[in-house]
Amino acid sequence: MSTRRPSARKSRRLSKRQKKATLAGRVTSFIRQWDGHLTRDLVQSPGGFGLGKLPEKMIPDATTSMICGYCSTGCSLNIHLKNGEAISLTPSPEYPVNLGMACPKGWEALAVLNAPDRATTPLLRGADGVLKAVEWDEALTTFCARIKGIQAKHGAESVAWLGTGQIVTEELALLGAVAKFGMGIVHGDGNTRQCMATAVVAYKQAFGFDAPPYTYQDFEESDCLILVGSNLCIAHPIMWERILRNKRRPRIITVDPRTTETALASTDHLQLKPKSDLQLFYGLANILIKEGWIDRKFIDAHTENFEAFAFFVAHFDPVRVEQATGVSAKRLREIARLIHDSPRVSFWWTMGVNQSHEGVRTAQSLINLALMTGNIGRPGTGANSITGQCNAMGSRIFSNTTNLLGGRDFTKPADRDTVAGLLKIDAAAIPAKNSLAYHEIVNGIRDGKIKALWIVATNTAHSWINQNDFRELAKKLEFFVVQDMYCSTDTAQLADLVLPAAGWGEKEGVFINSERRIGLIKKVAKAPGKALSDFSILKLIAHYWGCSKMFEEWASPEAAFQILKRLSKGQPCDFSGIEDYKSIDEKGGIQWPYPGENPPQGRERRLFEDGKFHTASGKATFFFEQPKPMPEPTDAEYPLLLLTGRGSASQWHTGTRTQKSAVLRTLYPRDMYVELNTGDAKKLGIKASQTVRITSRRGSVSAVAVLTNAVKPGQIFIPMHYESANQLTFPAFDPYSKQPSYKACAVKVSANDE
Ligand code: SF4
Repeated sequence: MSTRRPSARKSRRLSKRQKKATLAGRVTSFIRQWDGHLTRDLVQSPGGFGLGKLPEKMIPDATTSMICGYCSTGCSLNIHLKNGEAISLTPSPEYPVNLGMACPKGWEALAVLNAPDRATTPLLRGADGVLKAVEWDEALTTFCARIKGIQAKHGAESVAWLGTGQIVTEELALLGAVAKFGMGIVHGDGNTRQCMATAVVAYKQAFGFDAPPYTYQDFEESDCLILVGSNLCIAHPIMWERILRNKRRPRIITVDPRTTETALASTDHLQLKPKSDLQLFYGLANILIKEGWIDRKFIDAHTENFEAFAFFVAHFDPVRVEQATGVSAKRLREIARLIHDSPRVSFWWTMGVNQSHEGVRTAQSLINLALMTGNIGRPGTGANSITGQCNAMGSRIFSNTTNLLGGRDFTKPADRDTVAGLLKIDAAAIPAKNSLAYHEIVNGIRDGKIKALWIVATNTAHSWINQNDFRELAKKLEFFVVQDMYCSTDTAQLADLVLPAAGWGEKEGVFINSERRIGLIKKVAKAPGKALSDFSILKLIAHYWGCSKMFEEWASPEAAFQILKRLSKGQPCDFSGIEDYKSIDEKGGIQWPYPGENPPQGRERRLFEDGKFHTASGKATFFFEQPKPMPEPTDAEYPLLLLTGRGSASQWHTGTRTQKSAVLRTLYPRDMYVELNTGDAKKLGIKASQTVRITSRRGSVSAVAVLTNAVKPGQIFIPMHYESANQLTFPAFDPYSKQPSYKACAVKVSANDE
């Protein structure tokens, strides 16, 4: 591969400037040197590649491996190097996650680095309203002066940041530490709020810690897999491949309102009414209890609050549930019987559950089913949330947003003292209150409480629910900073200051995948132009702000990793037994927990095998609540229900990276499309491939009609990746996790695209 580099003349100019550098300049110079090194010390012998008659420049001289930077599956990719720089990749055959497989995004991971719209220099908006290139010194002097000025005028809480589950854990932790402990910013959240917050809260309440209990081997060892709101075939294709390797001939039950690719490939499809899943699972629990198909011994020894739960679900008789869900009472009994008859049942969920107005209770209704049937802590079982982003799990523990570093609590003085001691900082620097959630930060702009916003590696202007609202609010900000690897995102275009960041493959650090496996990413390409790793940008910000002493020990990503180990020690996520980056590589990734004392053996690890949970009593808790109506039901004016979700295995979220790959672009439709039921289309006079207009109370967009019976009458589906999809969505939130409910809102469709 090739990346853009400064010309030789530019390099000479930089070197002259370095000679008369100020202290700030010397820091920049030092960090650029660090950013300039490649992963030469980590490469392995190339062995034979069998590449035939490739041009000389395409014949690698070494190979290293690293984790893919897209989704939470955490596949390992062998990166083939020439003179220490990546030229091609292949999936790693020995890695316990992907076993030699990769989806199209992984195969094209290097291609997207070399895009013409990479951010290559800091950009500052001038008085004329135009973004202009500036040096790092001016960019960071402006960054600190503007934020300090706003804090002095409006208070420390008038500034907020929004982060991501896409950067490495060391960077997430440094961002949270610099922002909160160094700069006094109280409010910071991440785009993980948009996908995983529900699972976090569900686990914390039920298990006492945010602890997805499974290992991927469970896909292969289950007799019955229940997939809820999860289009695994395209959203997590390698996980689906793991199911296909299951030799126990499992029943695969997909619970989804739409006939997705996964529903088609499953043995059973429960095509329930949208947002009726909570009623469905309460109904199943009712039958299981009435029939005595429960694990009484496990319930008594390892859980709390079961009797109250049993009393509560007694009202969810199959007839009532049939009316609410559209799943017949007979079918419901068959599924309950199947759960009872299967020695190993696993429950898996993703966004169909998490992005809901009652997501936490729905996730917990699945946790309840696993607990009451004793399907947890054994091979092929579990209540298993599948994460979205490559480092959502790192963000959940170390971003310093919803919890204090290491899964601790900002509001507990003892936790603040512990973290202060481990970081050798004053405990008074740690905020004693929790941050506002993402939507509260956005609403804070509306209310005039948030005056400055710093967004790191996320595209809010595309991905936020009811996106036009955010775009308008961004104009109210006194100062808006975007730190990203591309300067062309919808969000970067609105910013006052753009800080150019290195991407995956241009820096190092660790990701934590869905099964809690810590894996390494490495620097195998140079960042273009003046772009720096987020780690280096944050170190520079600390320097310009005047708090660099606090972060002296964070000298490099690997030094930061040693700090993270300390922060994890004694917590359920303890990985203090990992020696260093090299040992992660040698062991093929390491799942937490991996404590220093008696570290566990083997490459696979599931939680709760001893039936002990992380609550004060050591028991898991049943949570439940009356289902609530959908926030925006259909009516005469807006008679159709819009469902959203992933469109293909070749698209990732807002397409910021995947649309840069010529190969991936050929694997999904260029223009936004809408799946429309054939009967509805006939009534509306709409023909296949016709451009139609879709309107909600928030916006109106056009899309190409795809006529299909994959959606039921009265429902339509639009993939989330297209820029205008979130002009339509309705801003409703789960009350506990504060996660947006993207999946269902009322719309109308017209044949006339005007
Ligand atoms: Fe990368 Fe996820 Fe595809 Fe694996 S499944 S190659 S981690 S995008």
